[in-house]
Amino acid sequence: MNHKGKYIAFFTLGCKLNFSETSYIAKGLEEEGYNLVSFNQTADYYVIHTCTVTQAADRKSRILIRKISRKNPDAVIVAMGCYSQIKPEELASIEGVDIVLGTAEKFNLGNYLKQYRKGQPLLISISPAEEANLFLPAHSGSDRTRSFLKIQDGCDYTCTYCIIPVARGKSRSPCIKDIVLQAEIIAGKGVKEIILTGVNIGDFGRLTGESFLGLLKELDKVQGINRFRMSSIEPNLLDDDIINFVAGSNRIAPHFHIPLQSGCDRILKLMQRRYTTDLFEECISSIRKTLPEAGIGVDVITGFPGETDFDFTQTCKFLDQLDISYLHVFTYSERDNTKAMYMNNKVDHTVKVKRSKLLHKLSDKKRMSFYNSYTGKSATALFEAKKHNGRMFGYTGNYIKVEKPFDFIDIGSVLKVRLLNINENGNINVEVAG
Ligand code: SF4
Repeated sequence: MNHKGKYIAFFTLGCKLNFSETSYIAKGLEEEGYNLVSFNQTADYYVIHTCTVTQAADRKSRILIRKISRKNPDAVIVAMGCYSQIKPEELASIEGVDIVLGTAEKFNLGNYLKQYRKGQPLLISISPAEEANLFLPAHSGSDRTRSFLKIQDGCDYTCTYCIIPVARGKSRSPCIKDIVLQAEIIAGKGVKEIILTGVNIGDFGRLTGESFLGLLKELDKVQGINRFRMSSIEPNLLDDDIINFVAGSNRIAPHFHIPLQSGCDRILKLMQRRYTTDLFEECISSIRKTLPEAGIGVDVITGFPGETDFDFTQTCKFLDQLDISYLHVFTYSERDNTKAMYMNNKVDHTVKVKRSKLLHKLSDKKRMSFYNSYTGKSATALFEAKKHNGRMFGYTGNYIKVEKPFDFIDIGSVLKVRLLNINENGNINVEVAG
């Protein structure tokens, strides 16, 4: 079927990795002659890039599919990605779905679209994730400010709550020179910041005899990029060599996003995480000693099976005394085919919600105190295209969200700013410094 001039719309759920992959897949189709449109416009094809990290993520995909198929009964609807990989039959049973593609097959979307016509029997193509050994490069590139660059995929860890290894397969990454090449392509587009994404980025290079530190060293030499930012990195893989290298680099942002998940060693063990609270604490003090200005974000899960009030209090106390900048709070969500699903002493939903609220409060307190310690100081911030109420927004290297009056000319600019005061949005107002 001739697809030239056909309209296609994508909707992405989940992590930055999914976003970078959507961008890559969409760009490929655009080069083949499709017209990319936004999801609320009329299109011939609607593609939902699903996520399955929580039950809520699954539900979002289902709701979206139903809505889009009611609105556009003649369009071809594709569900692809992690949720499709794990539960293809669940997605296939939704009225209006035409094509369901797994984690590997989604990169071949163009071929599936060519074969398919609306009204033909449902097309499902899923290969076992454990056979996934191909690394397909991807980077997002919708604006010239930031680009998410995929450096790694899959995970060999066995955290008992996590479904991602089942959805994305074994850990794999390309060699450093391939990533450097991608970074150079991104630099050529005028993008100022690259965010290094993956499922377990600290595992980069383990199978190719290279390392994440080696990658940082080479990326640091790429011309044209002002900043590289690491996404989430496991505490057991974030060693002093990496921290010291970040401290000595002008371009690797002093910003760490580290998953803790629980401040109670008993729960960490049940989760099969690969560290104790002692190691985590050492990791944070090492960052603070070397990079006092670093922004440190920490992931935490509330309501893991068996988490008692005592365990939760321990988590709160542990986090409270840690010198960190903010939290990402997740409420435990049961996933099929995970060990945690079969664990006893499930935590009641209302208790989970209550604990989650307390952690959000703690996060606000941490963020305010981190932001307060920067008011009156200077920093550099990269400003983005988003405009709201005549204001524009940006981030400093250590991930403080700043805002100032909108000026078109400052989109994608890295500016030296003075941080004035925290406003009602919880961001810091800034003025451009000279
Ligand atoms: S490290 Fe653990 S939580 Fe993260 S993707 Fe791997 S198994 Fe999941």
